[in-house]
Amino acid sequence: MLKSMAGSEPLTDLKKISGMGYIIFDNHMHLRTDGRFLNAVDMFLKAGGNSFNLVNLPDARLPVDDYYATLYSSTIRMSEIIREERGISVPVTLGPYPLDYFRFRESGYDPVAEMKKGIDLAAKLIMQGKASALGEIGRPHFPVEPEIVEHSNEITEYAMSTASDTGSPLILHTEDLDPDGYRFLEKMADRTSLQQSIKIFYPQFPDDFETKTGLVRSVLASRSNVRKIMNSGLRFLLETDYVDDPSLGWKVIPPDSVPKRVELIITEVTEWEKLLENIFLKEPVRLFGEDIFKRTAKP
Ligand SMILES: [Zn+2]
Repeated sequence: MLKSMAGSEPLTDLKKISGMGYIIFDNHMHLRTDGRFLNAVDMFLKAGGNSFNLVNLPDARLPVDDYYATLYSSTIRMSEIIREERGISVPVTLGPYPLDYFRFRESGYDPVAEMKKGIDLAAKLIMQGKASALGEIGRPHFPVEPEIVEHSNEITEYAMSTASDTGSPLILHTEDLDPDGYRFLEKMADRTSLQQSIKIFYPQFPDDFETKTGLVRSVLASRSNVRKIMNSGLRFLLETDYVDDPSLGWKVIPPDSVPKRVELIITEVTEWEKLLENIFLKEPVRLFGEDIFKRTAKP
């Protein structure tokens, strides 16, 4: 799929890079039609990106009744608009966000039952070809009472066995993990025969990169993170976790960050072609399948 490099002229033209068959892929973006939406997509495309994983964005304005049905259909609709308007591949990730737990509990619902129903619905949409992955599912990223940890683990294990049934990747959202934390999730994944899971990594504790794990990391594409992980030999993807709410500024980081890091990799890594091939071709295809990227890849 990759075209070889013609000559050894310095490559700063990212359009040229994506034209070579790389999937310049942001593994985690949240958009909303009343946010920057297509302007954020254009910012990503203009910087040289050519595909991103659209993850549903929790929306407290939606009624609790039929919450997931409403949220998922608006996320799927957004992905259709992006494909139609901009002609790129947009894998979609659907699932109950760990903090939904609190909203259901406060509204008098059983959070575990509601979130499991949310997982079932996401799985159904994946089977219908409307989405590619389950997520982001897991545990709150801050300390919570033991009962919530237990319930969240139950939901996570349910999501793992569902993802294993549908053969789709599971995007995990958890607190920062120590080696025991990784082992706990790996054992859970083994029990459910889950093949593909991606741990969303929050950058507070970069030592995390030291831990060997079968989970693929999705790393927030800050310069310092990329510098830390790029020579590690670990399997990883890059993401912005962009939350499309202009009132929050550019949380977590702006949508053009991943393509911008390509430039950093080309400048600072000797075997940059091999690294780009891993992050921007092999991993996305291995996790999401080749078909979803057909619009993006230019053989
Ligand atoms: Zn997110």
